[in-house]
Amino acid sequence: MRHAAGPLCSVNLSTQTAEEHDIDDVLESFIGGRGVGTKLVHDRVPFDADPLGSENRLVLAAGPMQQSQMSFTGRASLTSVSPLTNGLVSSNAGGFLSRHLVGTGYGAIEFTGTADELLAVHIRPEGIEFEAVPDLEKAEVPEVTEYADERWGLDPEQLICIGPAGENEVRFASVMTTESRAFGRGGLGAVMGAKNLKVVTFAGDATPDVEIEFPAEAMDVHREAATSDHVMKRQGTTAGTDYANAVEAFPTRYFSEREFEGVEGINGDSVESKKYKKATCSQCAFACKLPTKDEERGVETEGPEFETVMSFGSNCAVDDIVDVMKSNELCDRYGVDTISCGDTIAAYLMANDEFGNVELIHELVEKIAFREGVGDDLAEGTHRVHGELGVHDWTVKGMEFPAHDGRHLHGQGLSFATSNRGADHMYASFYAIEYPYVDKSKAMDANGLGGKPERLVEKENHNAVLDSGVVCKFSRDFIDEEMLATLLDTDYDHLQSIGSEIVTLERHFNNQRGFDRADDTLPYDIPGFPSALSEYYDLRGWSEAGVVPESAVGGASGATPADD
Ligand code: SF4
Repeated sequence: MRHAAGPLCSVNLSTQTAEEHDIDDVLESFIGGRGVGTKLVHDRVPFDADPLGSENRLVLAAGPMQQSQMSFTGRASLTSVSPLTNGLVSSNAGGFLSRHLVGTGYGAIEFTGTADELLAVHIRPEGIEFEAVPDLEKAEVPEVTEYADERWGLDPEQLICIGPAGENEVRFASVMTTESRAFGRGGLGAVMGAKNLKVVTFAGDATPDVEIEFPAEAMDVHREAATSDHVMKRQGTTAGTDYANAVEAFPTRYFSEREFEGVEGINGDSVESKKYKKATCSQCAFACKLPTKDEERGVETEGPEFETVMSFGSNCAVDDIVDVMKSNELCDRYGVDTISCGDTIAAYLMANDEFGNVELIHELVEKIAFREGVGDDLAEGTHRVHGELGVHDWTVKGMEFPAHDGRHLHGQGLSFATSNRGADHMYASFYAIEYPYVDKSKAMDANGLGGKPERLVEKENHNAVLDSGVVCKFSRDFIDEEMLATLLDTDYDHLQSIGSEIVTLERHFNNQRGFDRADDTLPYDIPGFPSALSEYYDLRGWSEAGVVPESAVGGASGATPADD
């Protein structure tokens, strides 16, 4: 089986030292990316670690596919204990970072400890260097990239960094790479901020010890991506906005409605009308990214993606795409997740009867990032602030919902509940088989849960493997199960078992932190939900309470290893 190569680089921010560890057995068993990050966090972070404490670790990893020239491989994965959910979370981002990461020659890089001053860490061929960066205190993301260019001669794609939101430990702060690509979900930017780690740069010219040969099929995928006339090449993820709205799967006014009367102002056509050039991730000929600008109002950003069109559009009752673009631009600049931030602001708008107040929305993004006034409360996220606001808690495990409303897409609803990282659509991408226009060959009726637990297990496992590859999930029309097995040089059943092991390790870690069935709940009813959840646990080999038996994880301790 193909897998990532190279040692683990373990960076201790407290002592400003770095060590290498052999992790060949982990790479061979878990491929790379999320699989490797999950195994390392599971085994190296104490089960009772404070997400914002010194013992938490942040693991950055690419996968074997980042050594290929194939489309859909411009991504990398970040794993840690989330300050938003309090569970183990992996988040992945596109852009161009992944090739620089592989160029360091490391199989994974982890950050532990806490620096006593704001730091930059440089991953260079000559070694790991630490540099105090007091000038970057509370710097916005574009200021960090400008500093990196002027001081170190590095491009924005050669770094990960946080904005003021990460430094202020906003629970949904993102880790940014370039100025617009985000490891968005789960607040991993706050983990970096708590560690006093402002920026990590990658200037490697190393090559992995093991050179990976890819089959000819990889170039077939690349060719098909280049020649396809797929609608996502024009409208990215916003292509499905009208359909989601038409079937009432488009959360509106803080989830109180599911259809937005102003959808025409924020749909795929409106985003396309503001798109001014093509953009992509490293090596990807599909090029689904969306650089947009409105010269009249002086707004320029990349996106918004579909989920942002929901969180800052319909969910806040905003019907002008330029206003959503502005929200998107502010989130990227300050470094916050657009879904969690937009939804939390929508909760505030509902509490104060201010839906559609665009000026207030933009002001709140800034207040959240800097924890000013009411922003200090909202920076805690919807789950922690909803009581004070007097609104319903629209989260699962503390994570705010994306679109693809589970009240219409019942399987997606079940998936929101079971997902170890909370209400996230990419954990299983179940919506893709409940929107018949996305995947006709495998479509299931959106209504009902019959037969869905089994499909959900398969899809969660499949996505865990994609995240470990690391392969973009928008490859679904180009890389099927057979192709994925060919690319990773193994059989698909083996990949399913690896995916299952990753999901089980996540769940086991979360179980030790007190998560169980009571956390796999939704803020709405779906007919047959309790029995479908039990069936899901049964298929996974977990208890009726959603708990992993110790025998399934080999009695792993979760203790910090002595080698640190
Ligand atoms: S499909 Fe889009 S998001 Fe995925 S790697 Fe290609 S350009 Fe990036």
